[in-house]
Amino acid sequence: MAATIIDGKKVSLEVREGVAAQVAAFVEGGGEVPTLATVLVGADPASEIYVANKHRACEEAGMASVHHGLPDGTSQPDLLGLIESLSSDASVDGILVQLPVPEQIDPDLVTRAINPAKDVDGLTPTNVGLLASGRPGLVPCTPAGVLELLDHQGVELEGAEAVIVGRSNLVGRPLVNLLLGRNATVTVCHSRTRDLAGVCRRADVLIAAVGVAELIGADHVKPGATVIDVGMNRTEDGLKGDVDFAAVAEIAGAITPVPGGVGPMTIAMLMVNTLTAARSGG
Ligand code: NAP
Repeated sequence: MAATIIDGKKVSLEVREGVAAQVAAFVEGGGEVPTLATVLVGADPASEIYVANKHRACEEAGMASVHHGLPDGTSQPDLLGLIESLSSDASVDGILVQLPVPEQIDPDLVTRAINPAKDVDGLTPTNVGLLASGRPGLVPCTPAGVLELLDHQGVELEGAEAVIVGRSNLVGRPLVNLLLGRNATVTVCHSRTRDLAGVCRRADVLIAAVGVAELIGADHVKPGATVIDVGMNRTEDGLKGDVDFAAVAEIAGAITPVPGGVGPMTIAMLMVNTLTAARSGG
């Protein structure tokens, strides 16, 4: 194997320890303990685990968290009412509504109801617009985690050819703006891209956020490229990324594994965002 393995678990722990130290200093300086409010509608077991992990991460970082579990049949007005009250509650710094929501609820309306200053998922139109126009705001956690990994690895982004596979609002599009903000030359591929392998082979930095297990193979990768695999695909053979790790690791200069790459960064960046929101007086 030629590639360096980028250890997301290790980097995420460092980020979380850094947040814990900054929270301690913030509170010592007279700030209120940063508080994250989570909202979950229904009892989806996977969502319950995600939410529980976020509460544990808050506790480890010295932050408080409050959970609002609502029944599956909750109406849209009731949910929006709760979000509006959390949005104006001075004791709450960050609001996270765990998706997906049941079908009677429009997820777009839910996102729009969140106070942008408390939008720790970075998905409100205000924060999307701030990122798109290169201004400071709260950035979606997974793309922010990708950038953190690249920085930690010392990858030169200025002038680099960056290719992103995937254009979702959650991952691909925010990454475009983050990488443009760092002066990379950015290309975005999607399901209609012709010659995906050819475009990907131009990349100094290749980021896969597709949701198709092992789509990106050795013929998609330029020798020495940095490859970041956002994919998390449950298959009969277990959790797989969007990148064929064994094949690509022979060619890439550095690569993230799945699991243990981008995944742990998401929750670490949620902690960063919650502290940022608290500092801004969310
Ligand atoms: P998504 O909303 O389904 O978007 C997938 C994107 O990939 C779309 O832009 C789609 O193109 C493109 N695509 C699909 N098939 C393709 C193909 N054969 N060739 C080229 N492009 C193709 O997915 P997402 O939410 O961005 O998530 C992507 C992956 O990241 C998933 O595996 C997800 O589980 C994972 N994820 C991980 C984390 C984490 O914490 N590690 C967080 C979020 C997501 P079109 O736009 O043309 O349809």
